Amino acid sequence: MKYITLNNGIQMPMLGYGVYQIPNSQTKECVLEALKVGYRLIDTAQYYGNERGVGDAIKASGIPRKEIFITTKLKSNHNVERLIEQSLADLQTDYIDLLLIHWVMGDDLATWRWMENAVRSGKVRAIGLSNFYGTDYDHIVKNAEILPAINQIEHHILRQNHSFHKTLDKTGTILEAWAPFGEGKAGILQNPTIRTIANKYHKTPAQVILRLYLQSGVVAIPKSSHKSRMAENFDIFDFSLTVQDMITLKNLNQEKDLFGWY
Ligand code: NDP
Repeated sequence: MKYITLNNGIQMPMLGYGVYQIPNSQTKECVLEALKVGYRLIDTAQYYGNERGVGDAIKASGIPRKEIFITTKLKSNHNVERLIEQSLADLQTDYIDLLLIHWVMGDDLATWRWMENAVRSGKVRAIGLSNFYGTDYDHIVKNAEILPAINQIEHHILRQNHSFHKTLDKTGTILEAWAPFGEGKAGILQNPTIRTIANKYHKTPAQVILRLYLQSGVVAIPKSSHKSRMAENFDIFDFSLTVQDMITLKNLNQEKDLFGWY
């Protein structure tokens, strides 16, 4: 595993396992498989309704809590203190490694203050944003006492956020890619250019995409319900893309929004 150092010195795995759209009843089994494969970063959210399954899996895995990095996300800007307590209870843990505001909700600075308090009280180790762009992102950065460690945004081969990534770099916020394969939309995993590069390294398109992020300083959290794909997506630490191949992959960018959300 490769780790990245967040702006507060904490080490975060650069490749994780996302559990969006996995029903709570199946989450324990999926996360247990992912932990067996070797994932140590689990990305959930209050909105997904499966924090309990994540907590069950971590408990059942027998892996020391400190070896696992848990991210969750706030679903509301009301009763933030209570929502954090609920996540701690569902995840069955004393602390959350990374807490994000899931999307712009309005009055986000007030939410951020609660999150800063949670860091100070030891309930959360790092805080960040998700789906914050432009002035919404700037507003938090300008007024934060603790700067955002992460901004988790839509990021795939057709939307590589080249310009925004530079902005995030300047403020020391790490870009984290949600939907790193664009959920397979727009034929991303069948793209002939990616296939050609993948064949050269005896790797799959999914592996080449994840390797591009790793070499670009982007944290990624692919989701799969299949053990074979969990393993495939994790098997990216034994090869390196050339600078030329990285440029070719970066040139596939169209800054194209595939979900119509943000
Ligand atoms: P992904 O881009 O990770 O795509 C997941 C889809 O790709 C699934 O249908 C999966 O199928 C398939 N897949 C996974 N691996 C492979 C592979 N190697 N080859 C072929 N197909 C594959 O999309 P997600 O939306 O799930 O995003 C990942 C994570 O990002 C989420 O789980 C969540 O944690 C986070 N997220 C955050 C958001 C936010 O607003 N902050 C929004 C959306 C996601 P199968 O399961 O059948 O294997």
